[in-house]
Amino acid sequence: MAVQQNKVSKSRRNMRRAHHALSGANPNECPSCGELKRPHHVCPSCGHYADREVVAMADEVDLDEDAA
Ligand SMILES: [Zn+2]
Repeated sequence: MAVQQNKVSKSRRNMRRAHHALSGANPNECPSCGELKRPHHVCPSCGHYADREVVAMADEVDLDEDAA
């Protein structure tokens, strides 16, 4: 097992951890429905990406066709 030669001071440890903070999300507005979405991802509310629908949304698919 590797053993450190010198104790890392609280100052040095905290200086190292100064870079560990997480940055917040940077959402874009969806061009088709206007909802906020992650950039370079399919819109979760309308299923569009780059002005075309790539994922059919569940409420648009009629599953109760036989029941009616
Ligand atoms: Zn959308």
